[in-house]
Amino acid sequence: MAKGSANQTKSVPNKHLHARIAYLHQAATHLALKQQSVTKTDSSVADSRLQQHGLPLLLAAQLQAVSQKAQIRLSHDMKRSICKVCSTPLMSDTTSKTRIENKSRTGGKSCADVLVIQCQNCGTEKRFPVGASRQKKKAERKAALAERQNIEVVEKQNIEVAEKQNTEVEIVND
Ligand SMILES: [Zn+2]
Repeated sequence: MAKGSANQTKSVPNKHLHARIAYLHQAATHLALKQQSVTKTDSSVADSRLQQHGLPLLLAAQLQAVSQKAQIRLSHDMKRSICKVCSTPLMSDTTSKTRIENKSRTGGKSCADVLVIQCQNCGTEKRFPVGASRQKKKAERKAALAERQNIEVVEKQNIEVAEKQNTEVEIVND
């Protein structure tokens, strides 16, 4: 018994929920692709816009609900592959369109590149800066600032000491 409990504490907590999330993601993307191919072949659909509905959206919404309820962080790719508004599984060239946008004045600054993923079901856009380097973490920025201030204080003290010595030398000379 004791051995079993020790093994349990070592294993990943909420393992079954991770499995469920993975399953829901696979099912949602598979069904969304299938639905998309059906919509494409159906000539009666005059609207060229995708009309994702039903099960894929429900499964993706469930996936998000499970991760929120259990406080499980979704992986980057998984989180980015679901529309925030309508829960459509986003796949490039099928349910979403991907483009690079650059709104700098000349359009030449590579640091202003933004990856835009647009949901083809509801038109919502996800935007990710790709050119800019990521800002350092707050703790690291604070440490750097403190170090800079320390150096300044030491320099000030050095200058003051030097000035004092100068005045002392002048007094002795007098
Ligand atoms: Zn959407």
